Amino acid sequence: LRGQMMQMPLLISSLIQHAARHAADTEIVSKCAEGGLHRYDWAGAELRSRQMAQAFARLGCMPGDRIGTLAWNGYRHLEIYYASSGSGLVCHTINPRLHPEQIAWVANDAGDRVLCFDLTFLPLVEKIAPQLTSVEHFVLMTDRAHMPAATTLPHLLCYEELVGQENGRYRWPQFDENTASSICYTSGTTGHPKGAVYSHRSAMLHAYAAALPDAMGCSAREVMLPVVPMFHVNAWGMPYSAALVGAKLVLPGPDLDGKSLYELFESEQVTFSAGVPTVWLGLLNYISANGLRFSSFKRTVIGGSACPPAMLHTLRQDFGIEVIHAWGMTELSPMGTLSRLKAKHAVQSAAQQQRVLEKQGRAVFGLDMAIVDDQGRSLPWDGQTAGDLVVRGPWVIERYLGLPASPLVSVDGEGEWFPTGDVATIDPDGFMQITDRSKDVIKSGGEWISSIDLENIAMSHAGVQEAAAIACPHPKWDERPLLVAVPKPGAALSRESLLEHYRGKIASWQIPDDVVFVEALPHTATGKVHKLRLREQLKDHVLP
Ligand code: ADP
Repeated sequence: LRGQMMQMPLLISSLIQHAARHAADTEIVSKCAEGGLHRYDWAGAELRSRQMAQAFARLGCMPGDRIGTLAWNGYRHLEIYYASSGSGLVCHTINPRLHPEQIAWVANDAGDRVLCFDLTFLPLVEKIAPQLTSVEHFVLMTDRAHMPAATTLPHLLCYEELVGQENGRYRWPQFDENTASSICYTSGTTGHPKGAVYSHRSAMLHAYAAALPDAMGCSAREVMLPVVPMFHVNAWGMPYSAALVGAKLVLPGPDLDGKSLYELFESEQVTFSAGVPTVWLGLLNYISANGLRFSSFKRTVIGGSACPPAMLHTLRQDFGIEVIHAWGMTELSPMGTLSRLKAKHAVQSAAQQQRVLEKQGRAVFGLDMAIVDDQGRSLPWDGQTAGDLVVRGPWVIERYLGLPASPLVSVDGEGEWFPTGDVATIDPDGFMQITDRSKDVIKSGGEWISSIDLENIAMSHAGVQEAAAIACPHPKWDERPLLVAVPKPGAALSRESLLEHYRGKIASWQIPDDVVFVEALPHTATGKVHKLRLREQLKDHVLP
């Protein structure tokens, strides 16, 4: 017997249609690249998305064509998300922090036919335009008044004029839910970036899962501010989950410094946010230095790299903000695990709860995970044994764009799993904890030392702004840990006091052999410490 229910494809256009009907007057507030705040609502966003879908069609775009974007979190970017995917085109968000050569490379690899970009990126696009092999139309995401008097770009189009010439009488088309909706590239710290092609189905299932109470817990009562950029794995799906629940959306544009963010959080009464640890560092520094408090902010997701326990503690204890430590990756759309307490943790002390929350958390329903040894045999969930983390699920990639070889592996000889390249433990309650990236592990005398543990301890020292632990070659132990630390401005920080800070916190053989102080650490385009570059920079360092 077959189920006798309607066959309605899961399509991204249904999200914005739902928001326009059920949250018509709920606001979307954006900081603009041109300066100033823009306000409208979900009904306005849906209408303009339909107009933009018409405009793409008028430019000659056909289903499956790729629309590249180089843009901040803003309302026009949101419209392009829905106009492109909703009309059967593919939204390719490009990370403007990539090297210009890499930006051109990913635009060509994806075969972008249209490139839409904020005013900020006009000089960048002018520079790379000669290398772009597939782009036919350049669209500057602004109004006529802000169009440049002169540009080297051929036939530069004005976004507001494209929207303005359409009447919006457009019906969102119905098509197979497995159609490609969007493309994001990994940041490619080794070799070229690799493209992950999401489908409408995967994006919709991810949006449902992200909204769950034990995931991001989105609702129509929230004011959501994604600090994580819409060019970084679709702002972790927030433009979709906000529409799904009809939440107010606040988009911070190019201003991601502590002061600008704090003022926007307060003026728009933001309740929920998400971003990488470095963003919260800037915000917390600003708030502490000025003796400020949040009046509405309740909950935040922190992920992308390990959330330092000291940051988690400060946000929870000093500001009463619930921190949801999350792990994911581009290949996972990106959501994998989130750390939220179970009922049994309610009776525990704040310190015990903090230890649970420091982990990267439990798999959200839809994602299956395992840890394996180097023979692909599954390892126990005892919270101690570390292994290679593998995952599978409907929003995990099967392959990379244009690469024939499957990255998938089997576990205990069965199934197809995506190897994340992360090393992790999983405890009996299902809480996963990342100890390292497999290419960043420090192996001393055959034993692994977690670089994340070493970094977290360093960052709990009052004088440390940021820290990274890397492996240094060693004649006897193969590798020994070296700590690279950025002192807080004005802090008198010595090698000895920092190493002393490790005593009693980990086994003595795990304590770094040496400390190097630097003014800043190199970061990747997605805000992670660039360990490969750091190892290169310090390759001649001699341990004492
Ligand atoms: P990139 O393009 O830089 O690979 P991703 O955001 O896809 O960007 O990076 C995914 C990787 O980031 C993960 O495989 C993991 O190593 C790291 N990561 C993400 N979240 C966390 C976290 N909460 N703790 C530790 N590492 C994390």
